[in-house]
Amino acid sequence: MQRQDYLTPAELAAWQPAREIPPPHRRSEPLIARLKDAGLWNGRQLAGRHWPIGCVSLEITQRCNLDCSLCYLSEYSEAVRDLPLEEVFRRIDMIYRHYGPNTNVQVTGGDPTLRERGELVKIVRRIREMGMRPCLFTNGIKATRELLSLLCDNGLVDVAFHVDMTQGRGGYRRERELNAVRRAYIERARGLPLAVYFNTTVFAGNFADIPEIVRFFRANADVVRLASFQLQADTGRGVLRGRAQRINPESVAGQISEGAGVELNFDVPLVGHPRCNRTAICLEANGNLYNLFDDPAFAMGILQRTAACDLDRRHRWKAIGSLLHAVLAHPDYWGQCAAFLGRKLWAMRRDVVEARGRVNKLTFFIHNFMDAARLEKERCETCVFMAATADGPLSMCVYNAKRDAHILKPLRIASDTGHRTWNPLAGRLPADGGKAAPPPASAANPAALPLRYLKGRTRQRMLEDRMLDDSAAPRGLSTCREANG
Ligand code: SF4
Repeated sequence: MQRQDYLTPAELAAWQPAREIPPPHRRSEPLIARLKDAGLWNGRQLAGRHWPIGCVSLEITQRCNLDCSLCYLSEYSEAVRDLPLEEVFRRIDMIYRHYGPNTNVQVTGGDPTLRERGELVKIVRRIREMGMRPCLFTNGIKATRELLSLLCDNGLVDVAFHVDMTQGRGGYRRERELNAVRRAYIERARGLPLAVYFNTTVFAGNFADIPEIVRFFRANADVVRLASFQLQADTGRGVLRGRAQRINPESVAGQISEGAGVELNFDVPLVGHPRCNRTAICLEANGNLYNLFDDPAFAMGILQRTAACDLDRRHRWKAIGSLLHAVLAHPDYWGQCAAFLGRKLWAMRRDVVEARGRVNKLTFFIHNFMDAARLEKERCETCVFMAATADGPLSMCVYNAKRDAHILKPLRIASDTGHRTWNPLAGRLPADGGKAAPPPASAANPAALPLRYLKGRTRQRMLEDRMLDDSAAPRGLSTCREANG
């Protein structure tokens, strides 16, 4: 890849969220136009065909109860107050106006479970009431069975647990040992009307363990619906930076196939840009996986004919019913469908009998986030994963690269009692006639924040400095830094 394919600093600074709201019947057109420009609009493409956008991330807090070594958050995040509920609701409305019903809205952060519980419930309910699909993205620490049940009652559709060795969870030395945590989370969600996902950040420390993790997901496919592998990127406050050379979408696909015990096809369907997203869909019976899309021509045909299908991820039989309904509307395709099903069932017959007819669907996803300093313009333009900013949706990779500009921006908040200016580092201010409050001195330099607000690189630097000072300085002098923490 040539250097000129990356956004220059000036282009990045000028890159703006999408402000224009498309008319309701043309919501997919902006993305389709960009995919056409990039030569990515073809029969395999789900983006623009099944939905106007893949998903939108709604960050309802910047705070987190972990300090991952590959965290995408900002050095300022722990000091940033939670967005006022009015602003979160305004962003939910904005997401709807851009992308319409059935949009996948990731309720995320930071860790969203740190938000006041009543507010979290209201946020999930609001998304669902608008006809969109709320998904809780959490490290799981505070996502108890009770909380998950409560959120289900209020319309939660999916829960995505992030578990991996970048999180530094105490007592775990290898990725495979974290299966104990994953198992506990599965039990918390078992039986709830929820689709359960797992996110794994791939880095040098767990690349070799991917097949083992996949075998774990295989064995738990009765609950786990999707396993997403997110490749390490040099962005955010995390202390680990450059990606090991051997880690790329192809090598990770190979590791997943090894764990799956079958060669998976990651080229059908397409989800936006193939350098960003790769997906493979399998059927599971009796712990064995079968590649669902081993016949690309048939797969493309069925994907196109079911594009308008509203698949209910909470209720398997409703989803199957919707699929059948869509297929029945195309009599010209019945023969091919019957032949495909016959072939699959024949290949799976022993396992289907062993599993007493129970067959599950398991999807593997590879998400190839970009380094903040190496954003490929074409991928940013065809991005299917947006962040909901105050000004509109923005490609997640671009947002991560200029996160501070968004999360530190004072906002004017409209409420029943008039307008207020809300400063992210100082919190809500009294009604002030719309004047922005001056940012605190720490807004210019995260190292000026108290140590308790710091995570990632600045914290590590400060702790290292402190250790140096402690070893060089006479006892007692280091306490001036501790006063900062
Ligand atoms: S541009 Fe980044 S966030 Fe968007 S789809 Fe590609 S990798 Fe994902």
